Amino acid sequence: MSARKTLAAAVALALGLSLAACSRDEATPATAGDAATAAGADAAETANPFFTVSSLPYQAPAFDKIKDEHYAPALTKGMEEQRAEIDAIANNAEPATFENTIVAMEKTGALLNRTAAVFGNLAGAHTNPQIQAVQAEMAPKFAAHQDAILLDGKLFARVKSLYEQRDALGLDDQDKRLVERYYIDFVRAGANLSDADKETLKAMNAELASLATTFSQNVLKEVNASGVLVEDVAELDGLPAEAITAAAEAAKAAGQEGKWLIALQNTSGQPPLTNLTNRALRQRIMEASLVRGARGNEFDNQAIVAKVAQLRAERAKLLGYENHAHYILEDETAGTIAAVNKLLSDLAPAAVANARKEAADMQAIIDAEGGGFQLGAADWAFYAEKVRQQKYAFDESQLRPYFEINSVLENGVFYAANQLYGLTFQERKDLPVYHPDVRVWEVFDADGSALGLFYGDFYARASKRGGAWMNAYVPQNGLTGTKPVVANHQNIPKPSEGQPTLMTFDEVTTMFHEFGHALHGLFSNVKYPQFAGTSVPRDFVEYPSQVNEMWATWPSILANYAKHHETGEPIPQELLDKVMAAEQFGQGHATTEYLAAAMLDQAIHQQSAGKVSTDTLGFEAQALKAAGLDYAPVPPRYRSTYFSHIMGGYSAGYYAYLWSEVLDAESVEWFKENGGLTRENGDHFRRTLLSQGGSKDAMQLFRDFRGRDPEVGPLLVRRGLDTK
Ligand SMILES: [Zn+2]
Repeated sequence: MSARKTLAAAVALALGLSLAACSRDEATPATAGDAATAAGADAAETANPFFTVSSLPYQAPAFDKIKDEHYAPALTKGMEEQRAEIDAIANNAEPATFENTIVAMEKTGALLNRTAAVFGNLAGAHTNPQIQAVQAEMAPKFAAHQDAILLDGKLFARVKSLYEQRDALGLDDQDKRLVERYYIDFVRAGANLSDADKETLKAMNAELASLATTFSQNVLKEVNASGVLVEDVAELDGLPAEAITAAAEAAKAAGQEGKWLIALQNTSGQPPLTNLTNRALRQRIMEASLVRGARGNEFDNQAIVAKVAQLRAERAKLLGYENHAHYILEDETAGTIAAVNKLLSDLAPAAVANARKEAADMQAIIDAEGGGFQLGAADWAFYAEKVRQQKYAFDESQLRPYFEINSVLENGVFYAANQLYGLTFQERKDLPVYHPDVRVWEVFDADGSALGLFYGDFYARASKRGGAWMNAYVPQNGLTGTKPVVANHQNIPKPSEGQPTLMTFDEVTTMFHEFGHALHGLFSNVKYPQFAGTSVPRDFVEYPSQVNEMWATWPSILANYAKHHETGEPIPQELLDKVMAAEQFGQGHATTEYLAAAMLDQAIHQQSAGKVSTDTLGFEAQALKAAGLDYAPVPPRYRSTYFSHIMGGYSAGYYAYLWSEVLDAESVEWFKENGGLTRENGDHFRRTLLSQGGSKDAMQLFRDFRGRDPEVGPLLVRRGLDTK
């Protein structure tokens, strides 16, 4: 995930989205002085690699030279440099012009941006206590730095004067949009407030930044601390052999040799629940998952959620909004609280009704087996798998041998990009990486010209946050001619030494999804970095990535990658047909758990100042009930205390995935109507939308691509919500 950046906020955003570990204020991060003294004899060898532009191809990060102690001094110096650059613009004796003010601002912060792009991502992808300490130290400083720029009265006066005469400046559309974007960012950051209110706002932002960091670090600590220890291997009945081996290895790594540790992932649902026949163990795992962040231990997030909600509500009020959601949604394509509430509440009853139908099928199995219990949240995945086997007669383990990671990536994801856009890929083993599992490819356009670099970091590890995401180490920049360097991250369990990586269908789809973000970054062809790649509203940013998922099941793509890892046999048509038929299976559960989380996010952020609940779990229960989404067998995909999205860049924005999916479902229809997988179609999508970044109004981009406004119909069909 990624979304529009405001000035200097690549940094804050990167931090906000980096959901790694703990805030140890007592830990002393390295300072510039430490780095210099540690440098020893050969200064050139040990100089901070961030201080100069990387000499590697595409300005790729010099991961072989970057050390943890380089971040703090580079970030600090980067902020100082940008502050000086901004001061020079604000204090320019010449009257404001588009060039000397707006374009000049676009050129500031080079050191800060290149450091933050690496730091922000590694804080999520491969963190450690030193990075966590820097993160905790820097979060409020970034917030203060951003405020210092956006609340600079002299600078705002220049921006405002240009904004007011923007139609008379002879600007082209992208230039004019840049002026408007800066003006809006300043106003939304509080540039029109009194000096006293600006000070209040700054204090709030700094506190919010610290709280968000602590929350995110608690989430990772807590997920790692909540693994379920099993003493008797008999309890693991049903788990595949490789998962049992992995659990034994995890226990050993945790100092519990001879036992088995079921590691958790950050969602409420946990993958082993699909296979475990032991109901008591399933319940232990589900319980351990659902109480994360609310156990009263040192990683408890209940008070932080309440405090953040309260501060955001007060900040919104100060800025003239009813609440935080109002503030956020005004700047999204959704536009209003009412529009978001309508989408979510329109879908909720049908989603829950579908989930209840799915539950009835499962209860029938439980009853037929003489189970003598009511289906609970811990049982859902297990019996869903039974229904799936009954109705569609296959299980996930039959599929996985056809989804070997290298084939999925090269013969699936890359192949689709070749068929659609003419792209080719060449692995670059000469470029440094931050972990041996990370791989790098150079990407070439259809005419053979270089397009950019793509990093793939696919395996789970304790140093990586949950979920999957894309980031840009180097954004495309038309002012400097810089080409994009982008990366994808997933959390695929790493198999035991020497074993192939056989993916689940969900992991395959996610790989296509994240590569959709990567394409958005790679195809970017805009003048200003402000608009590069995925710098679009967050309720639009998931749209191109979701569209790319369609190719995972496109017959000619699937036939090209889904081959048995040992025999090379293509996936049997019969199995494939079942997979396709099962596509809608489980949509009731998936939609309900998603809507519950999206509603919860809105409920938290639609509270007005002075009326914010301090009872985090009580509020959560009441909000789900009010929305008709309090169906116990389907808990929200994330509960408040481990809902990382709402602390980072997706506050009041988790609905965005569904909003984007309306556009996605429409676009899939367009491809199908126009002949599917063709270069012509790919080029049309690239030309009208993927290459444009945020340089035009997002809904206009959609219209340019689709030829009309979006309609919700295709989404309802896809999710089985078109009940008549
Ligand atoms: Zn995404």
